[in-house]
Amino acid sequence: MARKPEDRTPLDRDEANSLLISCLVNRGIQFERAMGLVNEMKRRTGCDDTIKMFTELTTEMVEWHMFADYAAVDNEGKPLPSLHRYRYMAEYCCLASRKIERDYSGDIRRVWRDEPTGSELMRRVCEFKGVGAKCGGLFVRLVVLSHGVRLWDTYAGMDVSPDVHVARCMKRLGLVPEDATPQDVVNRARELSPYAPVEWEGLWLHAVEGPCSADARCDSCGLLRVCPSRRL
Ligand code: SF4
Repeated sequence: MARKPEDRTPLDRDEANSLLISCLVNRGIQFERAMGLVNEMKRRTGCDDTIKMFTELTTEMVEWHMFADYAAVDNEGKPLPSLHRYRYMAEYCCLASRKIERDYSGDIRRVWRDEPTGSELMRRVCEFKGVGAKCGGLFVRLVVLSHGVRLWDTYAGMDVSPDVHVARCMKRLGLVPEDATPQDVVNRARELSPYAPVEWEGLWLHAVEGPCSADARCDSCGLLRVCPSRRL
């Protein structure tokens, strides 16, 4: 997700609007797939404007266009009733699009145009129905670390995601106790890196793509010498 500052690409209006919608549907769906769902919908509906598409379609139509590929079928191939989460995710997308149109003149980039602090940007994003700490944090990290949005306090107001993988790594490294809550993980990252708590997000890669997966491969780990949980 994080790119070097020179590689961060500014978002145009539609890309920014699509990104918020994509973060809203990043639940129980693979991240890369969630990020492609809006484009898939555009292809299916023939509409190339995200806000127009989500404000003109009914929630039922959004649910169908977005999640048809995920519809479960019975033994005879007949569709089963939609999963509850698809219905409310479709509703969140429609509500978010109406709010962007009403409060930000159809352009979500206006939410950060006064260069707010990280926590203020989070507060504004969390005013959208369905956006909580996880979804809002993902959106803020993406717009700042991948697309160069500037914050008044640079990275100081950007938290680490209290994801299971980050938490597992922090526990193994002895940085938080075994019974740490997600908020304990966030607080510890703030304490260790007050100017950029988000840098602890690197543990996600260490846990998912690096050696500290569920079945740790400690002999190839760069943190071997400092880790109290190393297994050899
Ligand atoms: S030494 Fe093992 S348990 Fe510790 S961080 Fe590395 S992979 Fe994880």
